[in-house]
Amino acid sequence: MTERDLISVVVPCYNEEEALPAFYRETERALKKTEGTDYEFVFVDDGSRDATGALLRELSQKDSHVRYVIFSRNFGKEAAMYAGLREARGNYCVIMDADLQHPPALLKPMYRAVSREGFDCCGGLRKDRRGDGLLRSFFSRSFYKISRYLTKMDMSDGHGDFRMMNRTMVDAILEMKEYNRYMKGLFSFVGFNTKWIEYEGVERAAGCTKWNFKSLFSYAFEGILSFSTAPLKLAGIMGGLLFFAGMLFLAWNLVESIWVPSAFTRLDLVLFAVLFLSSLQMVFLYILGAYVSKDYLENKKRPIYIVKEKI
Ligand code: UDP
Ligand code: MG
Repeated sequence: MTERDLISVVVPCYNEEEALPAFYRETERALKKTEGTDYEFVFVDDGSRDATGALLRELSQKDSHVRYVIFSRNFGKEAAMYAGLREARGNYCVIMDADLQHPPALLKPMYRAVSREGFDCCGGLRKDRRGDGLLRSFFSRSFYKISRYLTKMDMSDGHGDFRMMNRTMVDAILEMKEYNRYMKGLFSFVGFNTKWIEYEGVERAAGCTKWNFKSLFSYAFEGILSFSTAPLKLAGIMGGLLFFAGMLFLAWNLVESIWVPSAFTRLDLVLFAVLFLSSLQMVFLYILGAYVSKDYLENKKRPIYIVKEKI
């Protein structure tokens, strides 16, 4: 008999005492229905201030499938996912939210996709943003549009962190040791072929969302900064525009002074000088930015390539 596959379920938890019991129950049930596999839970308590940690201790005593990591404080979901993947021992790993917004029913088809259909990864694709407010949905969609444009990477609204990956892909993600982590970008950066399975968005089972507008905004900003140095190029564009405006201004004044000899005043000269000098400054800022962005990407020490198979 071949050895059974081990599926690791990585669960970042921040103040999830209300949602955890139902999550554990339903996910365990779904995992037991996934034939030919063994499973483990890797819970990461991201510095919760409620009874999440105590609940996890209790669960792990009752059930040997449960392991946990407790952080000393709140480090954020990105850090929690990284820690969970590092601890996971499975040959397949899946990241799930603790609030049942990622339906456990998808685990079985996900496993089939990565174990038998030749995919390296299988992700849940949320069809709609039910369970999120209108304003939040709008900002999310706009953010993904902008970041796709800026980063040239395959990230879209609906692609979340809910995915099952094989060991090769997990190791590739762990290989990226950058401090500012943005998982959606990392998934896309490492490549591999991914199958998407659609699911309906559902409301949180219990408790409340851990994100507010400010944290979402800084997360979005972080996402763009981590994967794109395009904002640094803005100085170049500004410099070009200012230079063009300066030249236009000068040309117009010179032409005007053909008819009216006194049209080109000292003030005009000063204005021209301001435009011209600002454009020079912008251009040098742009050049500086180009060096900084090279150094920034160098500093991340990302792997230069990722091997999927070798003989
Ligand atoms: N989470 C975390 N650390 C945080 C914020 C959230 O580990 O600082 C976890 C949270 O417990 C949940 C998952 O990340 O399991 C998604 O969070 P949430 O449901 O609040 O986000 P939403 O579904 O509203 O995007
Ligand atoms: Mg949620």
